[in-house]
Amino acid sequence: RIRPIGRALLSVSDKTGLVPFARALASHGVALVSTGGTAQALKDAGIAVTDVAEVTGYPEMMDGRVKTLHPKVHGGLLAIRDDAAHAAAMAEHGIPPIDLLVVSLYPFEQTLANGAAYDDCIENIDIGGPAMIRAAAKNHHDVAVVVDAGDYQTVLDEIKAHGGTTLQTRKTLAARAFARTGAYDAAISTWLLAEVGETTPAFRAVGGRLAQRLRYGENPHQWAGFYRTGEVRPGVASARQLQGKELSYNNINDTDAAYECVAEFDPTRTPAVVIVKHANPCGVAEAPSLLEAYRKALMCDPVSAFGGIIAVNRRLDAETARAIAEIFTEVVIAPEADDDAIAVFAAKKNLRLLIAGGLPDPRSAGLTAKTVAGGLLVQSRDDAVVEAMDLKVVTKRAPTAAELADLQFAFRVCKHVKSNTIIYAKDRATVGIGAGQMSRLDSARIAARKAIDAAEAAGLAAPLTKGCVVASDAFFPFADGLIAAAEAGATAVIQPGGSIRDNEVIAAADERGLAMVLTGTRHFRH
Ligand code: 5GP
Repeated sequence: RIRPIGRALLSVSDKTGLVPFARALASHGVALVSTGGTAQALKDAGIAVTDVAEVTGYPEMMDGRVKTLHPKVHGGLLAIRDDAAHAAAMAEHGIPPIDLLVVSLYPFEQTLANGAAYDDCIENIDIGGPAMIRAAAKNHHDVAVVVDAGDYQTVLDEIKAHGGTTLQTRKTLAARAFARTGAYDAAISTWLLAEVGETTPAFRAVGGRLAQRLRYGENPHQWAGFYRTGEVRPGVASARQLQGKELSYNNINDTDAAYECVAEFDPTRTPAVVIVKHANPCGVAEAPSLLEAYRKALMCDPVSAFGGIIAVNRRLDAETARAIAEIFTEVVIAPEADDDAIAVFAAKKNLRLLIAGGLPDPRSAGLTAKTVAGGLLVQSRDDAVVEAMDLKVVTKRAPTAAELADLQFAFRVCKHVKSNTIIYAKDRATVGIGAGQMSRLDSARIAARKAIDAAEAAGLAAPLTKGCVVASDAFFPFADGLIAAAEAGATAVIQPGGSIRDNEVIAAADERGLAMVLTGTRHFRH
């Protein structure tokens, strides 16, 4: 099934390797036909070529939008050579057969990547090129198609070896050709969908509509958009922004982290405040008043809290607003706010105040998603809430009522801190947070160190970890993390359990007089 190449049509935007390839084809007696720019490049190199306009009888027109879209071109690509009726049609209409098509498409992807304007991107959508590629690829029984300069040599080798192309090679080239036009159209549709506020296929998988084009992503060189999923959940996506600059990508991410965390604490029971930096809480507290909760949350890590995101679980009052306004804060989110609290922030033009209208339910179902190379990881939201009755005491000593309250408080915070997480808490306030470390021991040490720093900042004689409780988002694989917590001053421990060394960890707790409860539930967060 060798097909000799009598005529080739070359139409390439990327002219890399064109001249030597065309010269080699010509040396094997192949007649060359080309579109404007390609023909010019060949002529400049002294290679004989026929303009496609001569074949069609029409000039290229409309800025090149119409060059090869003509029966004399498409007939030559699509005609079945062994079919008598097709051959007769070619003869009747003077259609020359084209045995080899060489196309490199308008550089749509590069144009887009270069940040070109909309009209420029549109002009770089190739129409005639894909039409010819698909025609030739469909007719690969008779026609060879090349869409990548990397295959020029393949064709020359075939001519040298067989005097033409083999069916096997034409089929392979056809498959590559359809892959190219498919990817090309996917690039165009992804871009256009984003332009019109529709979703890209990845976003559609979780269901979303572009709500806002963000100035940039996590960093200024990253494109970003904010997509609404339509999920009915009070939070950053549905909140009313009363004042301040437009939210950034990082603001939205951090505000979500803060509000989801504060929603763990039942507002009908007690006021709670969460301060977030870089998606991790740096202070969380419950107290009889919001103001007190804010002061306790701030005391956990006043250095990190600068430029933070603050979430409260109750109607924001003026005195809490005044305390918040004392240091630079990026965002405040609350279910509601008193008018005089709103008035306090009015003087702080840059502070973004969001009113969410309610608190999300930490137990409600929902999805979270994250992209990986070539895929999307989707999971149900971590809706686990550990209650007192879920806890199993495994040490000789059981926790006191006060310790138990702090243990539950600390484990709820754990769920909202990047793993590995170690939380020290006392009187329903975090006093040391170890987040995002690759070893649990490091998290335990960092949390203790931060507690010492916080005590120094507050002018206290001893760190607040003396007599605190400790929570771990996953089991202690070794006793070392627990020992570090005990050395920092922890008297009670909450953790999922389930390590093959649980017995060693329990023994280490017993030796030090610690009370320990197991939750059976893990709160990894990556
Ligand atoms: P040239 O540089 O030879 O003038 O143009 C080559 C480019 O034109 C190739 O990328 C080819 O895919 C594209 N092309 C060929 N025919 C047509 C056509 O009829 N319409 C459009 N829009 N592009 C074409």
